Amino acid sequence: REEHLTGKRLVAGGEHPEDLGIGTEIRPRRLEEYIGQDQVKQSLRVFIQAALQRGEPLDHVLFHGFPGLGKTTLAYIIANEMGAGIKVTSGPVIERPGDLAAILTSLQAGDVLFIDEIHRLNHVVEEILYPAMEDFQLDLVIGQGPGARSVKMDLPRFTLVGATTRTGLLTPPLRDRFGVVLRLEYYSPEQLVTIIQRTARLFRIEIDEDGAMELGRRSRGTPRIANRLLRRVRDFSEVGGHRVVTREVADAALTMLNVDPLGLDEMDRRILLTLIEKFQGGPIGLETLSTAVCEEKTTLEDVYEPFLIQSGFLVRTPRGRMATAAAYEHFRLPLAPPATP
Ligand code: ADP
Repeated sequence: REEHLTGKRLVAGGEHPEDLGIGTEIRPRRLEEYIGQDQVKQSLRVFIQAALQRGEPLDHVLFHGFPGLGKTTLAYIIANEMGAGIKVTSGPVIERPGDLAAILTSLQAGDVLFIDEIHRLNHVVEEILYPAMEDFQLDLVIGQGPGARSVKMDLPRFTLVGATTRTGLLTPPLRDRFGVVLRLEYYSPEQLVTIIQRTARLFRIEIDEDGAMELGRRSRGTPRIANRLLRRVRDFSEVGGHRVVTREVADAALTMLNVDPLGLDEMDRRILLTLIEKFQGGPIGLETLSTAVCEEKTTLEDVYEPFLIQSGFLVRTPRGRMATAAAYEHFRLPLAPPATP
């Protein structure tokens, strides 16, 4: 549902129709090519080296973090660094226990099995995963009623890499079966500049330092958005007859695309301006905000608020949502007297 709702949104961290065909060629393949997330890389380096030295597969790894921050990329890197194969699937795709059994039995020893959106596995499938993760055992009931029989099978030792937006979405028994849990953070504009320059090289896009910085600042801390905006800006610059993407070109393109200087889009601005102009900055309840901006509560909470909170424009308080002083400043509006924190 989330993809459906954010699919049209240029600055959504989730996959976008425009991203088709880019992911694979620009994905870093080695840990050292992967930019940022230093703590995550450091931990992985140690675990990978230890596993290689012992000649054993890596422990199961769970990545959590917002869409587009690089979880899938890390799963591929792990397989690559371990010299192992990888199978990729996602929670909602595995509908029945048999689907998961088919995947598990097709694995080779040492392989990585990547399950994106692992929190969306249904519970019957999840129960097949427990013994598979813990004892590398497949425990399947075939058929129904009196004719049902249970099948037990040894599986090769594999590494499960799971990805989710929040660990809290996983059931505790599933979460507990991951030996390594790592959280991905939003990237700094400087780190995004490095990512943008790397992608630009691969796509042969000429972009100067200031142009890359302008894009980096407007990409919401998210590599997937940075790469997507880079391609949009390139189109704009080619059509305009510019050879190099400069700050001016990037600014003009992004302004036309309605992405503001800090990466906020129309809906982000509507949320903040509604809070400020109609409700003196809040606090107001989610219900009221949802009615005022004509958007579902869950979409506000899961899709729009995280970035606004992370950038310090919005706070959730026990009494409701509030616009911060930074939000007033962003819109160059005078601070409303008592309401802001
Ligand atoms: P997620 O699985 O978290 O949604 P992905 O791994 O699919 O995110 O990454 C989205 C895009 O961003 C990919 O095209 C990938 O190449 C790029 N990307 C993500 N993280 C990095 C990074 N640290 N360095 C370079 N490119 C990255």
